[in-house]
Amino acid sequence: MKQVEELLKMLTLDEKIALCSGADFWHTESLERLGIPSVMMCDGPHGLRKQKGESDHMGIHESIKTVCYPSASALASSFDVKVLGKLGELLGRECQAENVGMLLGPGLNMKRSPLCGRNFEYFSEDPYLAGKLASAYIQSLQKQGVAACVKHFAANNQETMRMSGSSNLDERTLHEIYLPAFEMAVKEGKTRGVMCAYNAINGEYCADNKMLLNDVLREKWGFEGLVVTDWGAAKNAAKGVKARLNLVMPGGYGTHEAAMKNALEEGEITEEEIDVIVSDILRFAVAYKECKKEEVLIDREEMSELCEEIAVQCAVLLKNDPDEEGNGKILPLNSDKKTAFIGAFAEKPRYQGSGSSHINADKVTSALEAADHQISYAKGYCLETEFEDEELVQEALRIAQKAEIVVVFAGLPDSFESEGFDREQDGLPENQNKLIHRIAEVQKNIIVVLHGGSVMNLPWLDKVKAVLCMYLGGQRVGAATVRLLYGKDNPCGKLAETWAKKISDTPAYLNFPGKDGIAEYCERIYMGYRYYDKKEMEVEFPFGYGLSYTNFTYSNLKLEKQKLTDKDSLRVTCTIKNTGAVYGKEAVQLYVRHLGSSVDRPVRELKGFGKVGLHPGEEKQIEFILNNRSFAYYETRIHDWYVESGDYAIEIGASSRDIRLHQTVNVQSSTELPYHYTLESNVESLKKTAKGRGVLEQMMRSMAQEKSDNDMDVLGEGAEKMKQKLFMEMPLGSLESFGGMTREQLLYIIQDLNS
Ligand code: BGC
Repeated sequence: MKQVEELLKMLTLDEKIALCSGADFWHTESLERLGIPSVMMCDGPHGLRKQKGESDHMGIHESIKTVCYPSASALASSFDVKVLGKLGELLGRECQAENVGMLLGPGLNMKRSPLCGRNFEYFSEDPYLAGKLASAYIQSLQKQGVAACVKHFAANNQETMRMSGSSNLDERTLHEIYLPAFEMAVKEGKTRGVMCAYNAINGEYCADNKMLLNDVLREKWGFEGLVVTDWGAAKNAAKGVKARLNLVMPGGYGTHEAAMKNALEEGEITEEEIDVIVSDILRFAVAYKECKKEEVLIDREEMSELCEEIAVQCAVLLKNDPDEEGNGKILPLNSDKKTAFIGAFAEKPRYQGSGSSHINADKVTSALEAADHQISYAKGYCLETEFEDEELVQEALRIAQKAEIVVVFAGLPDSFESEGFDREQDGLPENQNKLIHRIAEVQKNIIVVLHGGSVMNLPWLDKVKAVLCMYLGGQRVGAATVRLLYGKDNPCGKLAETWAKKISDTPAYLNFPGKDGIAEYCERIYMGYRYYDKKEMEVEFPFGYGLSYTNFTYSNLKLEKQKLTDKDSLRVTCTIKNTGAVYGKEAVQLYVRHLGSSVDRPVRELKGFGKVGLHPGEEKQIEFILNNRSFAYYETRIHDWYVESGDYAIEIGASSRDIRLHQTVNVQSSTELPYHYTLESNVESLKKTAKGRGVLEQMMRSMAQEKSDNDMDVLGEGAEKMKQKLFMEMPLGSLESFGGMTREQLLYIIQDLNS
């Protein structure tokens, strides 16, 4: 196939325009005469939804039978780049075998509220965690020659009014919270595709958004791949071209072609601009052809086994108290104990979410099927209704009474969370809550296994001894659950999202999902643990939290240097030791906090994590490398990231609320932020620049002089404080009246400050 520039010259205008939208629902347009292939795109991200018959973007029509892996909220709980890397590789091989050139995923939207119906498809409330995990997935997928397509770019954090709403947020919040995961996927993951979202940002649709698709994605981050619309997200053809949007999907209707021609005729766009976006498409097609592998063989049985391994790595043990008899922690279970499984999910687990990511799973294993011990079972509740079924409850109570231990399988049914709608509340169906309460009246040894794609409110938490959250753990979730319950494996997941005490505690509660399609992000950068920490609010389970069947100690924190500049990197190491009796893995987290920032900043932010597997008694060193970005915040004065000089604490934690080690490092900024002074700038603002600080010092010196010269100064402490405050908040211009300066002197100082 000829190279891009040559190919471009050989294309007619009509051919160029045709390439800018899909050939049909899933394919790009081909051009046989020039050997330009058609590329098939398919939904992921946790399996391959390849439709051979009727097509749709909501997972309604049949797709090929394949392996359904755990969905993103589960995957993120692994805190393990290796897990994500393995999944990327498996999916890449499958895409090659199925002639799929681009997998539509992973989803990188932030979990702004637990009520977003599609949270199961997103990784975290933390952009660093989401970005790192996604990068590992993307790198492995693309190593197999299959392009990733990160979605939904950007600020697409709810399903209500999903095709027309606007996410309204300030520049710092956008850059600090909602963009970095995408940025990492571009810079580190080297994703070859980005899917622009349906929604608008501050009133400008993402598909039309030049700031987003060009200025940030292309110019700031250096993205050279393909920007695809979400299915049906295209808006204004001319704006799309100007924003360097490449491909409108789905295609086959001729509408986008007509709109582009019209825009060209009207002089709204030029052929040169079309050439730019067509070149990206050609580059993508050339790469596809070069990466296409012939005859890749896959083994779905092996994939399914690996799917179980992955699910094991993702489970989070939320609670594990001693059993009623005082024989130590209730989990792992002893197979000699008479155990009952109660709850419809034990027989029919919920293992994936609904919508475009819905996989036609080849074989689902339930916990009941997987258990190789004698287990009694009662359904307990109906999944189709929220009402109690007294007969089912009575049967469950009979079985619970006879057993020594009861494992209740509970969680969110499909009707409670999905693509296409948001959750109405954060709880489980009432029949499940009531069932657990009623079982607790006859049985004290209760363990709850949870299935669901997002945070769940657990009103019976103090009535049960243990809670194991499997999230939506893929088609082998039942087998993975049994392995964990019986201690064949040790839970090692940690929460990638905070579980608040109640929904009204959550940061976006007052503004989610917004009104008339407008979602105001009033909580700004204080989303997830950033909010709870700043508010010093108690939560049910903090970000980064998860228990194990063993214990780990943290020691020996070492920072390679105690002082650095914003250009240096910093190596941080510490030692983790397994002090318990069984093998286990620990997800170790590094947080950075600024000690005394002059700008509004979260208490701590995740800037590193690593997972380490240890045998009893074994210890290992874990290493983190911090860089400029680890200390920076997004500064709107320069529209870029900025490191403020000062002391920072490096905190190593088992969770965001369980900091085990910390040390301070001093970071010096090598640049000063520009500041434009006017007569309206207040005295306090002089602190913002070196020159300003010099002027302020001089003023303070002469004020102190005046004060000591003035015998009449008999002000008390309160009045002195008031005087100070009034002075600092005073506009520079007012020093003419109060500071004994002439306007000329002031203008001279301001001119000098700005020079
Ligand atoms: C979803 C995307 C998906 C696309 C194609 C859209 O409705 O938002 O995530 O990739 O459909 O199915």
